[in-house]
Amino acid sequence: MENVDCIIVGAGLSGLACAQTLIQNSKSVLVLESSEVPGGRVATDTISGFRVDRGFQVYLDSYAEGQRFLDYQSLRFGAFEPGALVARNGRLFSVSDPWRRPFAAIRSVLSGAVGVTDGFRIALLRSQVLAGVRRGEIDPSAISGRAEKTTREELVSRGFSSDFIKLFFEPFFGGVFLERDLTTAATVFEFTFAMFSSGRACLPAGGMSSIPQQMAHKLPSGCLQTCASVVRINFLPTGGGEVVLANGRRFRADSIVVSSAAVANPTILPEGVPTVWKPPLWKGTRLVAFECDKKPACRQTLVVSAEPLDAGPIDNLSVPSAVTEGYAPDGKNLIYVSVRGDWGGEDDQLVGAIRQQAEVWLGPDVKLWNHLSTVTVQKALPIETPLSRRRRPPSSFVAPGLFLCGDHLTTSSINGALVAGRLAAEEVLQSA
Ligand SMILES: Cc1cc2nc3c(=O)[nH]c(=O)nc-3n(C[C@H](O)[C@H](O)[C@H](O)COP(=O)(O)OP(=O)(O)OC[C@H]3O[C@@H](n4cnc5c(N)ncnc54)[C@H](O)[C@@H]3O)c2cc1C
Repeated sequence: MENVDCIIVGAGLSGLACAQTLIQNSKSVLVLESSEVPGGRVATDTISGFRVDRGFQVYLDSYAEGQRFLDYQSLRFGAFEPGALVARNGRLFSVSDPWRRPFAAIRSVLSGAVGVTDGFRIALLRSQVLAGVRRGEIDPSAISGRAEKTTREELVSRGFSSDFIKLFFEPFFGGVFLERDLTTAATVFEFTFAMFSSGRACLPAGGMSSIPQQMAHKLPSGCLQTCASVVRINFLPTGGGEVVLANGRRFRADSIVVSSAAVANPTILPEGVPTVWKPPLWKGTRLVAFECDKKPACRQTLVVSAEPLDAGPIDNLSVPSAVTEGYAPDGKNLIYVSVRGDWGGEDDQLVGAIRQQAEVWLGPDVKLWNHLSTVTVQKALPIETPLSRRRRPPSSFVAPGLFLCGDHLTTSSINGALVAGRLAAEEVLQSA
């Protein structure tokens, strides 16, 4: 039986960050991943030469933990235009840069609809969240005893008008949180707002999967095994533990770190292990990808919908091939549409309903868009209401020699997953 210092079950970003941290501290590590490739929820498929991410996601280059683990230069990030085009009443309104120029942004989109006080409030919010993150007071990864509000409660208590919440916060953060009720905890919102205010929303050349691929390539050869599905973890009387793969192979280690995605399988852990962690409830999403010859007019700007639900299924629309290289073959364009979670239409009507709604905003060229694929991600983000966040375990430690990692322990984002992996590794190192 092979023996290493630490086995990590799951090569999502948290598992990869955990592995990298342990290796930097001279530990021998084996990462076992059930899929064919590392990366977990950050995945990209190649379809007819187009890179279709499994769900629309962006990397914020202000993520401090990302700066610790990633080589930005080789990822060759392209950035979205700051701000968004807000679709409302069948037209697109430009919100030029709410993160850095809140007054101009409010004027640009809300002409007449909302008072100028929202401009002051967003400027105040911006300076307060940036200071809060800088001082370490706003950190959604940390477990704190402080009671949290929901995002909506926070916005209301800050005095934002209901029109502004509806026209800006709901469509923009609804797309980020995958829910428009804004029940996500305010700490998560404040941190995300600060990240948008201090950095850029980026895509790496060639697809989001380049991020975990870069991390996996940094691991020593032989350290990562894919197509290795762990079905059981046994503790050994001699100390340490053993993992058993679906194909019967066994590996032994002094410590085992299990991604929370794996623990969702109730038979993986031996009976009697204290159940400090309950699998979360999930939010899902759908991405519909199109290709076309003519670049859509929105170019590098994200389009978010502030339309009522009966206007159509689009949550947001983007053109990743206009943001960075490698998303589409030369001369072609790739379009992503994220579908609203509350859209109730039939699956076979989805593509037609998207075309119809997008044509109102972007004109008749939309008729020439060809449908490439529809990607459904049922378990995209764990629900992050104040209540669900209060249920997070206080640390990665489960039992001697057994640790958890994953974004559920911190906050659901690329940054949160990397933090979770590093913290799990630090607990392993302290326990050795
Ligand atoms: C559609 C979507 C949009 C998102 N948008 C953003 C965004 O814009 N910005 C942002 O920062 N974040 C975003 N995120 C969140 C971010 O991608 C996740 O928080 C992060 O990838 C989670 O990483 P993880 O390692 O915690 O978990 P996972 O990626 O789920 O990794 C768990 C790994 O464990 C493996 N595994 C499970 N069971 C076993 C087993 N039995 N044996 C071996 N391996 C096993 C899985 O295959 C997987 O690779 C988005 C996520 C999705 C899906």
